[in-house]
Amino acid sequence: MLELPEKFLKRMERQLGQEYPAFLSYFSSPPAKGIRVNTLKISVDEFLKNSPIELGERIPWTNDGFFAAGDGLGKTIEHAAGLYYVQDPSAMAVIPKLQIKKGERVLDLCAAPGGKTSQIAAAMQGEGVLVANEYDKKRCGILYGNLERLGVKNCIVTCARPDVLENDFFEYFDKIVVDAPCSGESMFRRDGSAIREWSLQNVFSCAKRQSAILESAHKMLAGGGELVYSTCTFAPEEDELQIAEFIKNHPEYELIDEEKLYPHKICGDGHYLAKLAKLNGGKSEGNERVFASERNLKIYREWESETLKIKVEKIEIRGDKLYGFCENLPAVKNSFECSAGVYLGSITADKKRFEPAHSLAMSLKKDECKTVEVDESTAINYLRGLTFSAN
Ligand code: SAM
Repeated sequence: MLELPEKFLKRMERQLGQEYPAFLSYFSSPPAKGIRVNTLKISVDEFLKNSPIELGERIPWTNDGFFAAGDGLGKTIEHAAGLYYVQDPSAMAVIPKLQIKKGERVLDLCAAPGGKTSQIAAAMQGEGVLVANEYDKKRCGILYGNLERLGVKNCIVTCARPDVLENDFFEYFDKIVVDAPCSGESMFRRDGSAIREWSLQNVFSCAKRQSAILESAHKMLAGGGELVYSTCTFAPEEDELQIAEFIKNHPEYELIDEEKLYPHKICGDGHYLAKLAKLNGGKSEGNERVFASERNLKIYREWESETLKIKVEKIEIRGDKLYGFCENLPAVKNSFECSAGVYLGSITADKKRFEPAHSLAMSLKKDECKTVEVDESTAINYLRGLTFSAN
């Protein structure tokens, strides 16, 4: 049994009453694990025919998630190829609430490491504008790495404080996800640092930060839009009281749905989520990007016609670097943009050759480029950094 903060236990006992013993017993069982098939790259049926890991039942609140067991879930070739994402089953409950459709404008405001962003991207199937923002620069790199591996194309990754991002996207989004930084009580079983960092003081300071983040989200949501707020904690100050206070201060919002997923009731670590609708407000257009046409573009197009079976429609050139867009992603002027669209590669210093980037390869489906079949050990060696002959 884990050693948990006494004040936390007292609060939970008061909160749960008769259910408290069942809640406590969850801390002595192993955490539930799950994976989500990345339908940007492969259908669920195709994945199931050849799954590299043993899968359990389908996770009831998803179309593409499965319970899974074992320690090596993230260590397969299929994982490196971006065919699936490892995620806590209860965390998968948030995005389906928003019923995201192709073509919408969606913001994931607190996005790293990207579990929910990748679920949004799968719902959008490459159509629409997806902005994934992460406040912490280091975590932003992890977010980018995951989205690259999963082949997400219609995304802008930004690294900004929510009150800075506001200046780029005022009343712009149809849907916003605020998966807020929190005191992480549902992470206690997985992460010892969440236990060490827990204090009542921290619960209150998280609540204050969440309320500021929600204010920014409100400014970026268009009238008629929807917002989902979630945390991985059980503290009411960060969950239901936070949302009640927000609605009190913003009568233009309606609470559509609210759920507290406790780990003794579902198979997962636990999550809180609330879905809100913004009943009135405006809708703005984003800043337009300027797509240049230059000499470098010609070098790229020559390479593209020899190598790919698709044509990247819109190409942005920054110095020698080329970025491809499948959608009209808006320009970002105030926030730091880590990436937008797909980084295609760069023109060599002698201006003679186009050198494709790993992210371009990861964004392609098998039938969109020339492919080479290799055996498993060659694939593993390649992933370790060795080269192989393609002839
Ligand atoms: N949505 C992510 C997923 O599903 O993979 C998990 C997000 S995690 C719960 C919360 C994120 O908020 C962290 O990556 C953290 O760095 C970020 N964060 C921390 N302080 C923040 C702030 N003041 N404003 C916005 N985000 C913040």
